[in-house]
Amino acid sequence: MSEKENEPPVPSPEEISKKLTSFLQENFGQSVDFNSFPDMSGPEKEEEPPAEPEVKEKVDVFDFNYLPKDICAHLDRFVIRQEEAKKALSIAVCDHYHHAKYLRRLQESESQDALSVEFAKQNVVIVGPTGVGKTYLVKHIAEMIGVPFVKADATKFSETGYVGGDVDDLVRELVQKADGDVDLAEHGIVYIDEIDKLSSNGNSMGRDVSGRGVQTALLKLMEETEVQLRNPMDIQSQMQAVFDLKSGKSGPKAINTRDILFIVSGAFSGLEELVRKRLSQGQIGFGTSSEEIPMDNELFGHVSTQDFIDFGFEAEFIGRLPIRVVCEHLDAKDLLEIMKSSEGSLLRQYEQEFAAYGIQAKFEKGAMEIIAERAAQEKTGARGLLTVCERILRDFKFELPGTSVSELKINADLVNNNSKVLEKYKKRGRKVSVDRVSQELELFSSEFLKNHGVRIEFSEDAVEAIGERAVKEGTRPLQLCEFLFKDYQFGLKLIQKNTGKDEFTVNSEAVSDPDSFLSSMVVSSYRDVEKNE
Ligand code: ADP
Repeated sequence: MSEKENEPPVPSPEEISKKLTSFLQENFGQSVDFNSFPDMSGPEKEEEPPAEPEVKEKVDVFDFNYLPKDICAHLDRFVIRQEEAKKALSIAVCDHYHHAKYLRRLQESESQDALSVEFAKQNVVIVGPTGVGKTYLVKHIAEMIGVPFVKADATKFSETGYVGGDVDDLVRELVQKADGDVDLAEHGIVYIDEIDKLSSNGNSMGRDVSGRGVQTALLKLMEETEVQLRNPMDIQSQMQAVFDLKSGKSGPKAINTRDILFIVSGAFSGLEELVRKRLSQGQIGFGTSSEEIPMDNELFGHVSTQDFIDFGFEAEFIGRLPIRVVCEHLDAKDLLEIMKSSEGSLLRQYEQEFAAYGIQAKFEKGAMEIIAERAAQEKTGARGLLTVCERILRDFKFELPGTSVSELKINADLVNNNSKVLEKYKKRGRKVSVDRVSQELELFSSEFLKNHGVRIEFSEDAVEAIGERAVKEGTRPLQLCEFLFKDYQFGLKLIQKNTGKDEFTVNSEAVSDPDSFLSSMVVSSYRDVEKNE
């Protein structure tokens, strides 16, 4: 057999590339692709067909098969209330992605119809105060259907860009979120909050920055435009473009925004007053009242495009947002329900955080009721829950980890008498549980017996003293015994020789001064010997 025959077969370039890609991804993460490196094959290499890029398992939005009810059921697991918003968003999202799927089929069959299909995009505007679930709804929808999702605040844009952020950057960010998959990014969701700050009335964009200009820039995106993949103002981005050009890498240079779903939201405070006024003029039974009544579904049912225009929006802009929903204000009852039944409840988060320190935290109903009441007073929607819990639990989170506390009952007493209850827990935490200490002492005794043939017993006060000292010194009872009684075998064996005893009990004095304790035991064993002689 020749030497060559013993060697493994030479792998094909595709196999090498695949192996290298999986090696790189294993070591440096999924986003690294060997094929994206510059050509390192050397000049003399024969022309090979380009290696197959590793196809990553990706979500196929073109296989979209959800019903509005499926999406709504998913949202119900996380989002409390906001039924109208869930319904409207579920329908809008289904319409949007079913349409994308339909278009894709037409394109695949190379039908000329694909070019002429008309479709009014279901962009959405959500009206609602802060912290009531607007972002939460959109985030869960995007996660469920597997499309990239980008959120920004309208206040950071200016029409020329670069003062804050460029609106086009949002679309580029979608590509990043889609791991460079432009096709997927072209079907992502862009969510812009604080859109009401773009209105020309009460405009808070600052003197030099016009909300109207940003509306126009966004309008272009919402209709259909091509956004350059590389930001023309970003040097690094441009250098990468040159590099790609040189290395012959070609791919889409722009992102088409036709199939991106836009969802915008804002508190629109004052809109309710506008509608109420208009309705009272037409006598529809909504009297003008000076009291502040938040926008609810009933009143929102009367909101017209004109009201948005009166609020300060361009007609074209608001016209591109045909789906309009309200997310209602949440009261204490709703906040309690969020804690109790939302799968994303922050109570789970707190429980997990304490569990990481071996502390089983449990929220009791009484505590939740008070937290909900206090959170409602914060007037920041469900965000208030976090503020209140943080205030109540911060010191517990700081003081209890590392102590012997293994259970934390978050009840009404803890919420109302915060520092008193904390002190109680801290005191308890200083004591190590007797059971745990006893277990470790038993381990020490049996090892000692095995190694030296004599047994050490611990009196009750010794167990307590060892427990307390171990906590104070931040050590384990077993380690402490190994240190305290490290030379005890010599003295005890001597006593064993003198008296025949092979079992000795140590008390708390031995814990505070082990050497004196042993010495006095040895001395008295000699006395016993003398007495017996
Ligand atoms: P906004 O309406 O200002 O966009 P978010 O959706 O970001 O507020 O809400 C902040 C957090 O509050 C969410 O991450 C979620 O944990 C919680 N939350 C808000 N509204 C609800 C709700 N209706 N049901 C359950 N949790 C909610």
